[in-house]
Amino acid sequence: MSQQVVYIDGQFVPEAEAKISVFDHGVLYGDGVFEGIRLYDGNIFRCREHLDRLYDSAQAIAMKIPISKAEFEEILAETCRRNGLRDSYIRAVVTRGPGTVGLSPFKCPVPTIFVFTAQLRLYPDEYYRDGLTVITTAHRRYSSDSFSPRIKSLNYLNNIMGKINAVNSGVQEGLVLSREGYVLEATADNVFVARHGILVTPPVYMGILKGITRDAVIELARADGIEVREEPITQYEVYTADECFLTGTAAEVVPVRVVDSRLIGEGRPGPITLRLIERFRAITTTDGLKI
Ligand code: PMP
Repeated sequence: MSQQVVYIDGQFVPEAEAKISVFDHGVLYGDGVFEGIRLYDGNIFRCREHLDRLYDSAQAIAMKIPISKAEFEEILAETCRRNGLRDSYIRAVVTRGPGTVGLSPFKCPVPTIFVFTAQLRLYPDEYYRDGLTVITTAHRRYSSDSFSPRIKSLNYLNNIMGKINAVNSGVQEGLVLSREGYVLEATADNVFVARHGILVTPPVYMGILKGITRDAVIELARADGIEVREEPITQYEVYTADECFLTGTAAEVVPVRVVDSRLIGEGRPGPITLRLIERFRAITTTDGLKI
């Protein structure tokens, strides 16, 4: 396969030339932020929302991204154009940049910015048709008073521990609990349950990532007259739900069939899930930035 063009620090280069310093604090300490974004038929889905979250993540860790959002938008679009893409996953990363060894970010004068694309296919079609099997993971999410899960930082080890747990258990995904035992989200997706026609998802203040897909699904459901509540949910509420699904940029809207060996609802994607999969797919090509 031919090399893709990668944007790094002001230049578009072949991927083999896209390199960062071993002294970059993104590598040394996971000090940095990122976004996973999608291009659908030439439309960068909810581009501005992703950039708003990227800049908020940077602001929260006291890092100034040295270019404007408009410039960043153009870099995302140009990376897609130079790779001749109409449909793709796009990864945007801003690290603290190279500095002296030691935690202090104040010794890192210039953040590193890079953008690459990937042909990502998270799950085969059968999972969208039949649903995922998931477990509750052993590692709880760190609480918002230690580090806000709203920050999409380069330090994803808590999520990775959950993914290891899920894969080692022979399932596709894991649900992550808060310290108090509430269901928060999956390892890299938000979670929804439906019961008696009402859709429920954990509120952002519980300590989750405020997913762009989550927000879109809430809007679409409400526009369809479905009541949506942002309320804490327990494992009991997941086990006894009529429907359960996950949302994320890579996964989109994906049904969940089994949680901790309990078959959810009828054991197949329910009407609300199917409707939202369809409604979500319909807006991916129109809602966003045309490249
Ligand atoms: N939660 C976590 C922890 C994530 O990393 C992500 C992003 N993959 C999501 C939820 C979903 O967010 P989005 O819909 O913005 O991709």
